[in-house]
Amino acid sequence: MIYVNNNRYFPPEALAKELANRKLSQRLQTVGYSHEKRPILSLDLGSGPLKVLAWSQMHGNETTTTKALLDVIDYLKTTHEGATLQKALHLKLIFQLNPDGSARYTRINANEVDLNRDAKAQSQPEMKVLMEVYNTFNPDLCLNLHGQRTIFAAGNTKLPASLSFLAPAADPERTITPARRVAMQLIARISGQHTTSNVWGIGRYDDSFNINCTGDYFTAQGTPTILFEAGHYPNDYMRKETRKLVTKSIIDCLKSFSAGDYNNNTTEDYFAIPANSNHLRDIEISNVTIVNNKEITKSTFFVQYKEVLDNNEIIFTPEFDGSDCKLSGLKKIQMPEEQEKYPINRNDFADVIMDSLKKFIQL
Ligand SMILES: [Zn+2]
Repeated sequence: MIYVNNNRYFPPEALAKELANRKLSQRLQTVGYSHEKRPILSLDLGSGPLKVLAWSQMHGNETTTTKALLDVIDYLKTTHEGATLQKALHLKLIFQLNPDGSARYTRINANEVDLNRDAKAQSQPEMKVLMEVYNTFNPDLCLNLHGQRTIFAAGNTKLPASLSFLAPAADPERTITPARRVAMQLIARISGQHTTSNVWGIGRYDDSFNINCTGDYFTAQGTPTILFEAGHYPNDYMRKETRKLVTKSIIDCLKSFSAGDYNNNTTEDYFAIPANSNHLRDIEISNVTIVNNKEITKSTFFVQYKEVLDNNEIIFTPEFDGSDCKLSGLKKIQMPEEQEKYPINRNDFADVIMDSLKKFIQL
């Protein structure tokens, strides 16, 4: 692979550099501009009859799938299988649909709108660009590429959902329309190509219908659409392993779509993927001595990292996130015994509790 980056931050400048390295100028174009007039770039690959539209970083802080798209390009351009796929498919890849959010490392765009809630209103310049490309390209399949936080588990387990998928609903009744069925079958196929283990899993996202979400909107228009979520792989906060999993998933998806073998999968296979559950937290601290309404007792605390952009790097800042017994920590730490003499007041503000925790353990 050409691309090396140890940072979760992936702004438009980094993307431009990576694209320039790949000498793709022939079929690379600016399809529109963001609110702050940053270009939105799209790349065409392949010349086949089946059209696939993919877009990443519609949420600017979800960078893993953009990097995976670069790896997919390398695969398509450097392998024999990739050359075959390019004869079967015409791909249109939109990188960083939200370049302003990508520059700021925010989910929202510069107008503070979540683009994935703007599909129906189409109030934002970035969504207008996506809709124009969708309407003129008229894809047979859409890939809606996202990233998810560390909190998601694959089902009611302690396994992080390193990948999650959704075949969005096309109506409030969640009817399995022909388009939705194709998305379900493809997801079942892609999931089946992975070998999950006792450290990671694959989750299925909630399918409540929301016409403002891009995937629901396109599925309602009759276009099979797959939501990809790049999640947390154990100890992989830079998401290098996740990036590989996403790259493989996209390639497997393209292969299956061109070969048509997803037809061997059923909607039951899709529903057999465990539903996502959001009960994971970054750190679990057990044996914490607390004082709660004058009573001294023991508790388990949870800490969640907040991602903060600082001088072109993402700093993972620990924040106290409660003591709900239904939660489970990805990393488990035991509070040292000496803390018993200094009970933490459970009713203090979160930042005060955090300071108390930091006196005894390194976070
Ligand atoms: Zn997202």
